[in-house]
Amino acid sequence: MIVKPKVRGFICTTAHPEGCKALVKSQIDYVKSNVHANGPKKVLVVGASMGYGLASRIVSAYSFGAATVGVIFDKQASGSRTASSGWYNTKAFEEFAKADGLYAKTVNGDAYSKEIKDQTIEIIKNDLGKVDMVIYSLAAPRRTTADGTVYSSVLKTVGEPYTNKTIDLKTKTVHDITVEPATDDEINATVKVMGGEDWQDWINALKAADAIEDNAVTVAYSYIGPDITHAIYADGSIGKAKDHLFQTAKNITAADDGIKAYISVNKALVTQSSAAIPIVPLYISILYKVMKENNVHEGCIEQMYRLLNEKLFKGEPVLDEEGRIRLDDLEMQDNIQSEVKKLWSEINTENLESCADLDGYNEDFYRLFGFGADGVDYEADVEI
Ligand code: NAD
Repeated sequence: MIVKPKVRGFICTTAHPEGCKALVKSQIDYVKSNVHANGPKKVLVVGASMGYGLASRIVSAYSFGAATVGVIFDKQASGSRTASSGWYNTKAFEEFAKADGLYAKTVNGDAYSKEIKDQTIEIIKNDLGKVDMVIYSLAAPRRTTADGTVYSSVLKTVGEPYTNKTIDLKTKTVHDITVEPATDDEINATVKVMGGEDWQDWINALKAADAIEDNAVTVAYSYIGPDITHAIYADGSIGKAKDHLFQTAKNITAADDGIKAYISVNKALVTQSSAAIPIVPLYISILYKVMKENNVHEGCIEQMYRLLNEKLFKGEPVLDEEGRIRLDDLEMQDNIQSEVKKLWSEINTENLESCADLDGYNEDFYRLFGFGADGVDYEADVEI
């Protein structure tokens, strides 16, 4: 079948198997070409098929030679429907890992469920004994808890409505958007989905099964960003969930059984999750322009390479005064943020292309689904 992108709103409903494979390979090649610290050897990655989780898995395997167990929630191909890009990414990663003599197994199902936790832990017990690192990189719109309740997360403000610029990527126009405040129920639901409860559940389940080393390290990801985004992100409903995630890191470490938990504050990047947040995609496309012009732009793989090789496992972890890892250090530099702020105040539909790196944003968006990889013939028939 010849596979073309079909974009609906914030997602693309098709994915290109060969493109996904080529992009996984280029991430592997990036890691192979860099120097490596001495890191963990048996790594569980929850949310391993896309974005930061996939990059974390690749760095663990190719920097440290780690055996990796991934948990993903992805669709296989059926009939003329392609698989999801996370499915192709994972298949490609497993093939490359196998060829390179690296252990890699993946569990495909709802990471929030007890069933998937049990299946994953059984694989760890049988094949690896115990893990020495757990990377928690879930980004999900909803969670079903054990009693059958479905919680949906929202991307809203807390308290007051907030109006600012946003971009309509389809029509390439900039317009104002007002984001309404979340209700208390919506905030609680967002914390249930994106907070730390499930991370803690994973750690508890691994401990109960004796499937985690006493000196294991665990990390989950967060975002802070500049003032422009605070109302919708850091101070919004998702920010409440991230506060809970940070508190969970403290609780895991405070249990004092040797396991150390960290929050890594990562850079804003185009992923399937961030594309759905109002205001943020316009910020990201301006940020890309400024960071590229200043030669400090990074993607998921560069970020995760730096996290594991430079911030976490090169001697003692490098933390800020609140105990967080800061991979947003380059994004938040004063010179970068002052340029972004200036462009933000000027940007409108007419000057959009000159104030923002729209091409870079779009390129990254299509690449999420395997489109736009170098060396792939997108006119050729592929097995889906
Ligand atoms: P992503 O959408 O690229 O990846 C999310 C992963 O979670 C995918 O592998 C998906 O299959 C998996 N997943 C979703 N629901 C699942 C479920 N029920 N069971 C099993 N797997 C499931 O997201 P991302 O942007 O890489 O986000 C990962 C983390 O990084 C999130 O905590 C996010 O808040 C954080 N973060 C993202 C950014 C950004 O700009 N993208 C910045 C800082 C921090």
